[in-house]
Amino acid sequence: MIPYGKQDINQNDIDAVLEALKSDFITQGPRIPTFEKSLTDYTGAKHGVAVSSATAALHIACHALGVEKGDIVWTSPVTFVASANCARYCGADVDFVDIDPATYNMSVKRLKRKLIEAKSIGRLPKVVIPVHLTGQSCEMEEIAQLAEDYNFKVIEDASHAVGGKYKSAPVGNCAYSDITVFSFHPVKIITTAEGGISMTNDDELAERMALVRSHGVTRDENLMKEESHGPWYYQQIDLGFNYRLTDIQAALGTSQMQRIDEFIKIRNDLAYRYDQLLADVAVVTPVQHTDCYSARHLYVIKLEDEGKHRQVFEYMRKNGVGVNLHYIPIHLQPYYKRLGFNPGDYPAAEDYYARAISLPLYTKLTHDEQDQVVATLKAALSA
Ligand SMILES: *Cc1c(COP(=O)(O)O)cnc(C)c1O
Repeated sequence: MIPYGKQDINQNDIDAVLEALKSDFITQGPRIPTFEKSLTDYTGAKHGVAVSSATAALHIACHALGVEKGDIVWTSPVTFVASANCARYCGADVDFVDIDPATYNMSVKRLKRKLIEAKSIGRLPKVVIPVHLTGQSCEMEEIAQLAEDYNFKVIEDASHAVGGKYKSAPVGNCAYSDITVFSFHPVKIITTAEGGISMTNDDELAERMALVRSHGVTRDENLMKEESHGPWYYQQIDLGFNYRLTDIQAALGTSQMQRIDEFIKIRNDLAYRYDQLLADVAVVTPVQHTDCYSARHLYVIKLEDEGKHRQVFEYMRKNGVGVNLHYIPIHLQPYYKRLGFNPGDYPAAEDYYARAISLPLYTKLTHDEQDQVVATLKAALSA
């Protein structure tokens, strides 16, 4: 089976992990700041707080922005459940802004319309979480303008987009947001097996996130609320979590960062090759916004005929192509239905769900395998 995604680990990555394993620190130690620096250097953001997953990064981002019960957080319905769950962890309500049918990202037009309505009923969001689906940035300049006009904070869920660019600058520089989150799950662009990071230019947000990454406990006397009892002293000043990344994982991440541009180039070349191979096939290929250079985490096609969706999907899986579907709209999940969401709430997201298929895309995908994917798709469409 050709999988839809796969990590790319080389001997340097393995050597880096072995070296970390043999060192004095194997959980959060000196390799964490080194890994964080590789991401601040790469993106230009001032701070990076590395944690055990992007889910954890989204949670501490919401926490640092003061999200709590009574607040409301908006995200896209077409994303992984973690983009919405992070707000629920803080006790906040969640609502969704339907997608742009061309890019599949949160629609700025719909966001604007929803903000006008929300203002009139006094229910504006505290935080909006745009998701850079497939690795292509949302229209962040417009979203940042709305954030200013309607006074909300912005967390970019850039789990798919490390290595991508928006208006020629790296995604993650936080030029248009308060915090940007990356994921290092093995199917994503670079990996630490499990891991994530919150990037920010704000000193206070960085400090708050670093604190709750490890129980809300500090050994820094400058942060303590009461006088130190002695050299053994540590103090809990907030309710935090154990969201630490290990030094073993950070070693892998730092090593992976050396190849990030190579990874993005290969992914873009493969995506371009899919575009060519599918030019005369009855599917919609991914639309690229002119402001964006996508990290190309996913290559999503949309069938023109939604009646064949399930059949094509099953045919391809049966014939050795590990297609996938990113994502089931969150509001259709039973947990979210229990909170009051219903089918029909976000028609663009549901139309996407009825027709989308993620084709295999990863750095080690060969041209032969790619040809096989396209041949299988063609056969599935005419079956
Ligand atoms: C993968 C992913 C996450 C969660 O990442 P983890 O590192 O697995 O916690 C969150 N949001 C999106 C859009 C993702 O694709």
